[in-house]
Amino acid sequence: MRYLIVSDVHANLEALEATLSAAGEVDRVLVLGDLVGYGADPNAVIDRIRGLERATIIRGNHDKVGAGIENVDSFNHLARYAIAWTASALTPDNREWLAAVQPGPVAIDDLVEICHGSPFDEDVYIFDDLDARRAINVTTRPLCLFGHTHVPAAFRFDGDLKPIGPPRGARFRLPLDDGAKYLVNCGAVGQPRDGDPRAAFGLLDTESSSLTVLRVTYDVAGAQQKIVDAGLPEVLAQRLAIGR
Ligand code: ZN
Repeated sequence: MRYLIVSDVHANLEALEATLSAAGEVDRVLVLGDLVGYGADPNAVIDRIRGLERATIIRGNHDKVGAGIENVDSFNHLARYAIAWTASALTPDNREWLAAVQPGPVAIDDLVEICHGSPFDEDVYIFDDLDARRAINVTTRPLCLFGHTHVPAAFRFDGDLKPIGPPRGARFRLPLDDGAKYLVNCGAVGQPRDGDPRAAFGLLDTESSSLTVLRVTYDVAGAQQKIVDAGLPEVLAQRLAIGR
């Protein structure tokens, strides 16, 4: 089985389309939340993801606030402005659909589970070893995929935590050893923050037991122009070009 892993699209249709075509044929798509917020195409992104065959989708914090099922108190000024714009832009049908997206963690099969922030709390970030240790204690599968930070990261546990170099570059292949547990963030499709502006996504091949984090270029200028035209803060357009 080949799984495509998509997280933090953030209403960036150009990045999503580039990711889907770079991934090619897959057996299943795993969508790890934050479909909307920051970007200018919330409805088009939701429509595209709703139309995917064999997709498992969980919500992110921006989806909850955008759909009106959680208040905006935890958001900074920029995120707050963008999510208010998003909430007013969503069609009633898409808002209703978004409000009903399930929370993580969700077990996909015997190998994989997915969450937005962490397996113990969908809104909590996993940044460092300490966060990762806390998360691994509650995982129910050998491979736990997460998002939320917009920064690709990989942790391996084999009795103890073994550091793995952060997934960087166009293609980072991680072989999955039997008996070890993994926590992996394949990065953000629509708003990367590791200094690489290319869309980030993952491909899991269960036959060869390997997970690959990939980067693909997309029409950044097109996505930026839509953000400016929508009247969203220009910094949200600028950050796409630098991946921060
Ligand atoms: Zn996000």
